[in-house]
Amino acid sequence: MSLFSFFRPTPKVTLPPLRFYNTMSREIEIFEPILLRNVKMYNCGPTVYDEQHIGNLRGAILANTLRRTLEVWNYRVKHVSNITDVGHLVSDSDEGEDKIEARAKKEGVSAQKIAEEYTDVFFKDLDMLGIDRSKIIFSPATEYIPEQIALVKTLEEKSYAYKISDGVYFDTSKFKEYGRLGNVDLAGEKAGARVEENKEKKNPHDFALWKFSKLEEKRQQEWASPWGAGFPGWHIECTAMIFKLLGKQIDIHMGGIDLIPIHHNNEIAQAEAATGKTFVKYWVHNEFITIESKKISKSLGNTIYLHQIIDRGYSPRSLRYWYLAGHYRSPMNFSWEGIEGASQALSRLTRTFFELPKSGTPDEAFLKDFYEAIANDLDTPRALARVWELIKDPAVSPAAKRASLLVADQIFGLGLADARPSAHIQVVEQSDLPGPIQTLVKEREAARKNKDFAKADELRKKLEESGYEIKDTQDGPEVAKK
Ligand code: AMP
Ligand code: ZN
Repeated sequence: MSLFSFFRPTPKVTLPPLRFYNTMSREIEIFEPILLRNVKMYNCGPTVYDEQHIGNLRGAILANTLRRTLEVWNYRVKHVSNITDVGHLVSDSDEGEDKIEARAKKEGVSAQKIAEEYTDVFFKDLDMLGIDRSKIIFSPATEYIPEQIALVKTLEEKSYAYKISDGVYFDTSKFKEYGRLGNVDLAGEKAGARVEENKEKKNPHDFALWKFSKLEEKRQQEWASPWGAGFPGWHIECTAMIFKLLGKQIDIHMGGIDLIPIHHNNEIAQAEAATGKTFVKYWVHNEFITIESKKISKSLGNTIYLHQIIDRGYSPRSLRYWYLAGHYRSPMNFSWEGIEGASQALSRLTRTFFELPKSGTPDEAFLKDFYEAIANDLDTPRALARVWELIKDPAVSPAAKRASLLVADQIFGLGLADARPSAHIQVVEQSDLPGPIQTLVKEREAARKNKDFAKADELRKKLEESGYEIKDTQDGPEVAKK
């Protein structure tokens, strides 16, 4: 930053109060943290038995957008995200195989290896999407087993827990407010149908706090406990890790909407039964990503992963742009046309940004509208639309436009300032390229078809040394002059 830019006057725009939809009150509320300007937030992270699909990654982008927003609003944020590496059973009703153990068995490797492998893939995805991992405290469930056991003990001492033949369960009839989040219809058919019969449970919605290992399952992950060897129930990890890392009461708890009826109601029951205090002030949930109007999920086999988007020649930030173009509380239907549109829009935005001169100050009217859109329950589609209005506005100077885009990108995280210059250079028709360059492009295509990626990379380097950038798209390679 030059001395001049440091002293450059920035318009004094008052930040409007932040408002979020709180699933608990079912209303948009003004955000006020429990303690001054400190925000404690937690989001339910991935179960690392497989690669995360673009539905799972939506929550990570929402958490990151919210974190960036809170920072712009001058809050100090402590953000924890769990990594579920044990205890998430195939069925929400505490039955069936452990997802990680099942995958380990299938692949003939250790459960730990599976968890490490897919945590790594998840982290790489976050890096590519422009999520700064150094600002998130990641907590793997297996690293907090004593804390989980201690919490179950507290619940037992307070008479909220009981033991049956397959584990220790939470007695939901003792927690009068059970099911308040999302107003779960406890007696209704739909809610009941999700909770399979376990004849020994006292109430249909009671859930496992600790499960005993079954000999025939030959589990790899099990721990001693006062009730018998086993492993923690899926819900207890989040509550125990929140208590340990953030405290008994937090400001924001996030996750996908599918977590509302069971997982998050169970978290509330465990926490509030143990402390007698309100656990979470604001519950923020993201809607689903769908494909052909069906929820993307591994069990339906309709998953799309970030690596597939990259394989088709799109940058990971195109996916980020695509998410931002929808409101987090609306379902978004994935299509390749949608990603193509987002990719083109992001290229245009990046190119425009690079063509604008430096040393301006942000446009005041823009800042006002932009911050208002974000403050209004993170209305990123409106904020993006306002960016395009700014770009087209002849009354705003080019330097002011550039400075305004930088402000917007503090929240969008599209990386405009560090996007590669290739984003703003002209694509050249292949027939217009010099002969030797055409040959290199063709050789590289052949290498890629033969899956000789080392050779393809080497040829890409040669092209770059000759002043050409190459990008693989759905319709073949695109070559641009640097
Ligand atoms: P899981 O790995 O199933 O525990 O899910 C991790 C996170 O992704 C949770 O917050 C889920 O609510 C969320 N999630 C799962 N599927 C989708 C989807 N299709 N769209 C949006 N979020 C999803
Ligand atoms: Zn959770």
